[in-house]
Formats: sequence, structure tokens, C-alpha cells
Amino acid sequence: MQLGIPQETLPGETRVAATPETVRKLVQAGHRIMLQAGAGTAARYPDGDYEKAGATLCDASAALGCELVLKVRRPGHDELQGMQAGTVLVGMLDPFDHDGLQAMASAGLTAFALEAAPRTTRAQSLDVLSSQANLAGYKAVLLATQYYGRIFPMMMTAAGTLKAARVVVLGAGVAGLQAIATARRLGAVVEASDVRPAVREQIESLGGKFIDVPFETDEEREIAQGKGGYARPMPASWMQRQAALVAERCKQADIVITTALIPGRPAPVLIQPDTVASMRPGSVIVDLAVERGGNCPLSVAGQVVEHAGVTLVGLTNLPALLATDASALYARNLLDFLKLIIDDQGQLTLPEDDDIVKACLVCRDGHVLRNT
Ligand code: NAD
Repeated sequence: MQLGIPQETLPGETRVAATPETVRKLVQAGHRIMLQAGAGTAARYPDGDYEKAGATLCDASAALGCELVLKVRRPGHDELQGMQAGTVLVGMLDPFDHDGLQAMASAGLTAFALEAAPRTTRAQSLDVLSSQANLAGYKAVLLATQYYGRIFPMMMTAAGTLKAARVVVLGAGVAGLQAIATARRLGAVVEASDVRPAVREQIESLGGKFIDVPFETDEEREIAQGKGGYARPMPASWMQRQAALVAERCKQADIVITTALIPGRPAPVLIQPDTVASMRPGSVIVDLAVERGGNCPLSVAGQVVEHAGVTLVGLTNLPALLATDASALYARNLLDFLKLIIDDQGQLTLPEDDDIVKACLVCRDGHVLRNT
């Protein structure tokens, strides 16, 4: 098959959908790789390395014109214009955005959104949410160190002792757990909260303390189990008790990293403005949920702002700040997905009984196949 890898066009998107490593494997499997010249430059993968791996360098239209196109982000209007009906597209395509899906369906694409893959053991190696969130959690901590005017570890010096930073992590999914691990490695004291009781053990195994908001009703306990590994919106009563406890912990904290998300919905508000006002000047909040409305209403997408002496970091797309590693993991995720839709003869196949393929297929033959 001919596989196209265009350069990403979304502003700030530095990642690329294939690396020399994955190109080499695809070429060995008998495919022809058409890579837009410069597609990997921002991720520090030079054109020459792709050529050595067997890719043919081309312009954007030749890459978009291939029968199978690999992308990081959903194609924009101009990219859609450059793709023919029937093209197979694989990428992170925002499966909860109906208008975006409709645009791809109208362009006649057969599109696979990898974010929609089930959170099962078999899907782990192609789980783009995990591979990218892991890096985002790590980078969130490093960003916090950058905006915090103190250090993370306790340090005893001849000039006196510096206290360890206190870090609170809200949401202990993939990003949150990596944030806990990273902050601990830097010597911080870490506490974390999540709706799902199953994460207590994971938090504690990383050396963090679980902020426990006990359940008072069977309904609370049942909803907190989540669905398919994901959280569901908690009842107002639980959210109020959590807010009170979070407010108290935030007052003591130096750094708060928030990662709480509910698929297909706005992010839950976990830090109210008056909690921010009660925090110590110099504290830092890194809001990883900012693109979905934020876990704190004061954070601003794409910006670093200050409120009552507290710095709120609302930078988006943190994996793109680690483009080399983020692309390496993402490209391997794609390679694993391709094994499901390309058969042993190197031909495209759509096994409709495969739960991963079925979940990721978001449009085909002009129709959106997903209720958003
Ligand atoms: P996510 O990004 O959707 O959400 C981040 C975290 O926010 C979740 O842990 C969620 O429970 C939490 N959250 C939601 N509302 C909250 C609230 N009001 N207060 C506090 N926390 C709140 O989740 P994710 O990181 O993608 O992971 C979701 C789950 O899937 C995790 O259990 C993860 O371990 C699991 N997972 C399984 C696999 C697999 O088996 N293949 C792969 C990856 C992740």
C-alpha cells in the first residue's frame, strides 16, 4: 500500500505520525511511504533519516493523496480538500466532536480515531491517550518547577534548611499517576484525589497519599466505579464534599496539578476561584484539563496567568513540548493499529468483528458512524 505522512498543520503541533523506526518497519512489510519533506523536523527527525529508512520525500499533496494517510491531528479544511473520497485516515481525530466527524464523512474518508479505542489489555499497545497523557503528566510537573520560585526536594544547607514542596494532584488517571511519580522523584510530598476508589492503591504505591472523600450513599459508590475504566459525573453531594476537602488541601499546597476528565463532557470544576484566592502567593496550578474548560475556571487555555499571587499554567498540548518522544510512542501506537487493518498480503481489511477496529471507525461511505 501507499502510506502518506503529511506535515501537521495545526499551530503548535510539533509531533509527526511516523518516525524513521516505524517507516523502516512499514517499508520492510512491503509498503511505500510518501513522507512530506520536513514533516519530522519539528520533532527532530531529519528528512535524511527517513530517506535512509526507505521513505520517499514528497510534497503535501502527494502525502495526502495516498490511499492510507497517517496523521497526528484531525485534518483541517485545506487538508480535507487534498484528500480523495475513499482515503483511509488514521489519527487522533476528536471522536466527540460531531462537526469535525461530519466534515471527514462529507469528504468521503474512512476514518479511524484512535482515542476511541477501548481501554482493554489488547488495546494497550495502541492506546494513544495513555502514551500521550503519560508524557503530559511528566511535563506538567516540570512546568510547575519552572513557574515555582522554590525547589521541590527538602535541602539541608549550611545556610539553612529548605522545606520539600507539597504537591496535590487531582485526577489520578494516566497523566495524574505520572505526575505523582515525577513529583515524588523530585522529592516533593504528594497527595492525590480521584473519584475512582480503585486508584488509592496506585497512588499509595507511588508514594503519594490518597485524599479520601468517603462515599455516603450506594449511588455515589456505584457512579464512582466509572464505566469502561473512565469516570462518570459524580452526584452534587459528593462533589461538594470533595470541593471542601480539596480547598483545605490546596491551602496547604505549593503546587496543584489537575488532570480530571470525563470523556465527552466538560472537565469537572475542582478548584473554585475562592480556593485559589486562599492559596499562598507563589503557588502554582497546572491545569491539564484546560482545553476541556479546565478543572479551575480561572485557568486560560494557552496562557500562563496570575490570580492573587497564584500562577495558573494553562498551556495546552504538553506532549507537543516533548515532540521527539511523543512522536516515537505515537508512531508505535499507529503501527500496532495498522496490524489490525492491513492483512498478511499487505491489503486493507476492515474486520468488523474486531472490537478495537469497530470502536475506532468513526466515518465511512459519507456517514458518521458514532453517536457523539
Ligand atoms: P481521563 O484522562 O479520562 O481522566 C483522568 C482522571 O480524572 C481519571 O482517573 C478520572 O477518574 C479522574 N476524574 C474524573 N472526574 C473527577 C473528579 N470529579 N475528581 C477527581 N478525579 C476525577 O482518564 P485516563 O487517564 O485516560 O484513564 C482512565 C482509566 O483507564 C484509568 O483507570 C486508567 O488506568 C485506565 N486505563 C486502562 C488502560 C487499559 O487497560 N488498556 C489503558 C489506559 C488507561
